[in-house]
Amino acid sequence: MKVAFFNTKPYEQKSFEAQLDGSGHDFTFFEAKLDLDTAPLAKGFDAICSFVNDHLDQAILEKLNGFGINKVVLRCAGFNQIDLEAAKVLDFTICRVPAYSPEAVAEHSFALLLTLSRKTHKAFNRVRDNNFSLVGLTGFNIHQKTIGVIGTGAIGKAFIRIAMGFGCRILAYDLYPDQKMKDLGVSYLPLEDVLNQSDILSLHCPLTEDSFHMINKKALQKMKAGVTIINTSRGALINTKDAISGLKKGKIGFLGIDVYEQEENLFFQNLSEEILQDEQIARLMTFPNVLITGHQAFLTHEALSEIARVTLLNLDQIEAGMELDNQVKLG
Ligand code: NAD
Repeated sequence: MKVAFFNTKPYEQKSFEAQLDGSGHDFTFFEAKLDLDTAPLAKGFDAICSFVNDHLDQAILEKLNGFGINKVVLRCAGFNQIDLEAAKVLDFTICRVPAYSPEAVAEHSFALLLTLSRKTHKAFNRVRDNNFSLVGLTGFNIHQKTIGVIGTGAIGKAFIRIAMGFGCRILAYDLYPDQKMKDLGVSYLPLEDVLNQSDILSLHCPLTEDSFHMINKKALQKMKAGVTIINTSRGALINTKDAISGLKKGKIGFLGIDVYEQEENLFFQNLSEEILQDEQIARLMTFPNVLITGHQAFLTHEALSEIARVTLLNLDQIEAGMELDNQVKLG
């Protein structure tokens, strides 16, 4: 199949090209993000391949459909960026990569947590400046803390397995509790109780109408003073304005985020020569107890290789008219 890749970064192109030989597919890599202006680049292709911040809203889907394209392979797991109703009406076939490496994302969640708990980012800078003082570097143990995990799918489970190695008590909230996790000693509780009892909260559920802004002023009121919140899932799970207010009051002790509500115009780009226009992320960056990474939790060699493998498999199955293992359910 002739596939137009949008929003391509060099590290992705490399991993796809490494597996392309002999596949019979033909890939063209565009750096441009998919939007109404760039969609015409897809003319003449059989399918497009897009990433998390390429919006597949009704207007874009109609435009692609007008070029005779109704096949999309997402090189990501989440699909909240798609207007599923419109995709159904326009008869789109959309596949994704559901679980390329849950461990990559879970390990990054822990990287955020351990950086915040032991201030290694500050120590790194200090020591390079010949400043070997320990004042201000006192951390906290993860051992014996209560960790609340919201969403115990593939990534939540991988996160729990790591947390258990640290000797933590694990509470969880999920719409569908998992028996294997219960057998491992995870206690599923109503959301309110998880918020109430956790020293550390880690978010691993998808962004849906139900989960939008699940961490807001009301939820923060239920949490312990000084709670640590880690979010590697989707930015809009957290109401940023409320989180800033929680940080100012000391309600949130530490915040580690790999995703941000308004990340779309910031992340995956080098904006170091530009004036930052986003007041909320600018404010977040002023807090000494906030750590932000730019949606890199997925970025390991192992995950990139798996994303390429599964995307090629999805294209093979679409081309062969086979049953699709990784089809996104529409509407
Ligand atoms: P998954 O589908 O395996 O698991 C999601 C779990 O969340 C399921 O068990 C589901 O029942 C539960 N859930 C759904 N709605 C919920 C709600 N309102 N409250 C509580 N639980 C709810 O997904 P996954 O592979 O574990 O990925 C989780 C999320 O991580 C994805 O949706 C995506 O947004 C995000 N993600 C981020 C990165 C990154 O690089 N930062 C990479 C991959 C995935």
